[in-house]
Amino acid sequence: MISFSRQQRTLAGVARVEGFGYWSGQDVRVEFRPAPPDTGVVFCRADVGPARRIPAVVRYRVEVPRRTSLREGGVRVDMVEHILAALAGLRIDNCEVHVDNPEMPGCDGSSQPFVAALDAVGISPQPAARKQLAVRRTLRVGDDRCWVEARPMAGQAMMAECHIDYGPTGPIQRQSLTLAVTPESFRRELSAARTFILEEEAAWLRGQGLGARVTCRDLLVFDDSGPIDNPLRFPDECVRHKTLDLVGDLALAGYDLAGHFVAHCSGHRLNAELVSLLLAEAARDGLARTA
Ligand SMILES: [Zn+2]
Repeated sequence: MISFSRQQRTLAGVARVEGFGYWSGQDVRVEFRPAPPDTGVVFCRADVGPARRIPAVVRYRVEVPRRTSLREGGVRVDMVEHILAALAGLRIDNCEVHVDNPEMPGCDGSSQPFVAALDAVGISPQPAARKQLAVRRTLRVGDDRCWVEARPMAGQAMMAECHIDYGPTGPIQRQSLTLAVTPESFRRELSAARTFILEEEAAWLRGQGLGARVTCRDLLVFDDSGPIDNPLRFPDECVRHKTLDLVGDLALAGYDLAGHFVAHCSGHRLNAELVSLLLAEAARDGLARTA
């Protein structure tokens, strides 16, 4: 069911973040600009001719391993998930994200550099209501081992619950986290949690010519004894990062979501499948039935 939960919000000014893409190694400059009500989050590629606008909603998502990419008219933006998480986490609904390269900067592997830049310019309420989609019945995608589920919950909050389990022998312990997602909890509990990879996966990627510029300082690379050359920011940083990813992926709904979202060893693909299912269900239910 769709209802109206709060006022829409945009940025009070222009925020910038620069860095390089983990996969491509290309320098990239991101400029977050205010946008009118009902714009949503839209990536703008002015480096291609003609310039392209790529809305950050699930129907523009294309499947690429280990990251979230969006495509419109043959033009792509890659690794958008930590930017989407930052905007959704802070409840910035309307924003043009201007970029001059397809791949977003990896920065430190978290959403923190984006959150810091966005918070530095501030957030403005707008004279329009934000739509919220409430989960009406339990929906689940995935298989017995890896799945993600949306459950109804009283009230207007979004609860995120993540579990990771890489088996008893790996360097990453089994971890769980349950959190009511608000701008405050996102900033405090999730935004600084960094992405992670196993050393053998990192070596394989380098063998494919990917990630040549990335070092163990730029994200968490785990060997058998733990993260290499990089202290953890939280003892359970991995599950916090998975929760951050979930927040970013769920933002592809284009609505605030109310419900309890439970992810077990899930990833971007399953999270996006759940969003598509939720939207299909809401469409069947009649999006016109607004409160
Ligand atoms: Zn991530």
